[in-house]
Amino acid sequence: MAQVGTTKPIGPYERLSAEVHEWDPRTVEVAARVGELVRARRPDLAVEHIGSTAVPGLPGKGIVDLSIETTPDDIPAVVAMLYELGFGPQPGPDPWPPTRPMPVGSLDLDGAQYRIHLHVQPKGGDFPRDIAFRDALRNDPELRSQYEGLKRGITSGGAVEGLRYTHSKTRWILDVYRQLGFAPPPIAPPATIGILGGGQLGRMIGLAGRELGYRIAVLDPDEHAPATSIADSTEVAAYDDVAAAQRLAARCAVITYELEHVGPAVVAALDDRRRPIRPGPYPLKLTADRLAERRFVEANEGRVAEWREVASPADVLRAAAELGYPLRLKAVRGGYDGRGQARIDGTDAITELDGRVGWPALLERELAFEAELSVVVARNVDGMSRTFPLARNRHDRGILVESTVPAGVPRAIEAAAATLAESLATSMGLIGTLTVELFLMPDGSLVVNELAPRVHNSGHWSIEGAVTSQFEQHLRAICGLPLGSVEMRAPAAAMVNLLGEGAPRPAHPTGTYEALSVPDAHLHIYDKATVFERRKMGHVTALGASVEEARARARESAGHIGWAPAPEPERGDA
Ligand code: ADP
Ligand code: MG
Repeated sequence: MAQVGTTKPIGPYERLSAEVHEWDPRTVEVAARVGELVRARRPDLAVEHIGSTAVPGLPGKGIVDLSIETTPDDIPAVVAMLYELGFGPQPGPDPWPPTRPMPVGSLDLDGAQYRIHLHVQPKGGDFPRDIAFRDALRNDPELRSQYEGLKRGITSGGAVEGLRYTHSKTRWILDVYRQLGFAPPPIAPPATIGILGGGQLGRMIGLAGRELGYRIAVLDPDEHAPATSIADSTEVAAYDDVAAAQRLAARCAVITYELEHVGPAVVAALDDRRRPIRPGPYPLKLTADRLAERRFVEANEGRVAEWREVASPADVLRAAAELGYPLRLKAVRGGYDGRGQARIDGTDAITELDGRVGWPALLERELAFEAELSVVVARNVDGMSRTFPLARNRHDRGILVESTVPAGVPRAIEAAAATLAESLATSMGLIGTLTVELFLMPDGSLVVNELAPRVHNSGHWSIEGAVTSQFEQHLRAICGLPLGSVEMRAPAAAMVNLLGEGAPRPAHPTGTYEALSVPDAHLHIYDKATVFERRKMGHVTALGASVEEARARARESAGHIGWAPAPEPERGDA
């Protein structure tokens, strides 16, 4: 684009990692100049200086935060005026939505470049809260020094990624907002919770919600999906049907999801500030794309298997020469239960890969791990997190078959997994549950395999095995309620999945009597209309005095469950 902007008063903005600097008095001058520029064009608008640079003596990133409050309808006109001054759209992976945008720019003051965030807030939004927070910091030296300590703590190990810096401060800031009278009220029963996706995860979220007295609305393309029978209402529509998602949202106080494959257009349409989407649009966007997910984990100090982005079989060959065999080729979007990936163990079949996963794809080294582990963390509106005990998982051809808790790893590994999960949840600003699938390597290190911003199959044991189940915890988090205890109710828990077998046919479980005769075994059937080979139909959780005992019970109980053969075709009516 031609740079007519050379004559514009506001210069371009550069996204940098966060470092804490001493307070700079010239930021006040920057704020005043921008205020004059805006008032010359729109005398009706006031530009407030907010954020750390507005508090004399407070160190910070040095970015000048400014805020304008106006009517929702006026926001596009204000943004257009700011762009004329030289401001531009907010860069980065998680910008504020168009309903409360934050144009960015910079101002040259005697040769020094000051970066500017200009928040445009709709009336009824966060403007009064931001002013109150600023004034509290200006007036209360004790509060100021607490905040300063927090900021320095976050960056004490050097510069950190900008979003991580922001979300790491959340917990303390939200506590101050609460003291100032700006606590968001919890979403209380009988509010309606909307769930995008009506599979077994949606069903179990819904059941936990019903216990608490919430109402449940589900969106799923299948009118007989497992969650529909426990929901108050269902929108039968595809996961990318924007109009249907909006109909669902209209009757909900909060929207959540049970799968990562919700259409991006749906998320964009629902992200209108009328009700929250939790765990959040950003965690969803990030984890729906395996390449973005890998980059995110690496940027947040998590290890991943060595990987390459590949766009053709020729790329795969080139990357394979560097990575070595065996390799895993994974679709960037849409894979689950081992679908959407291929194992490559030599050069022979690579030309046949076209169409298997779609391009571009993620190619990574297959790791000779010692065990697969997973950890579920919940983070609530106040930025508090609680992490469930680590689970040890066994997969069969990409499908989870068994989880046992405790995972039987040294305490330091369990602690490292929890710290990693909490830090990833914080960095993506997640509110709800996040599951981190891990490989435990022979040297005791942890490698991240996959992130899921939701409850997870490997956390089902918590329904009977923990004081608070992952489903209730998820609801507590997304509804702004305190998180529950994650203590175990027994020394050990084991969960065995009930996978279907045989040709597709109506699903009728057999052996439920025998399955339930096993002590401390709990049977969950998802009420799917059709059973077929390897379909997740239900699970059994058993508790015990040891992992061995719990596992033996769960396996014995699950072993009794079968699926009735298809009924004989009926003779025609006489
Ligand atoms: P899905 O979305 O299907 O769960 P995953 O990437 O988690 O996809 O892969 C499914 C399973 O395949 C994993 O749980 C693991 O058993 C195996 N797997 C995936 N990637 C690797 C790898 N790089 N090395 C070894 N095993 C892998
Ligand atoms: Mg997985």
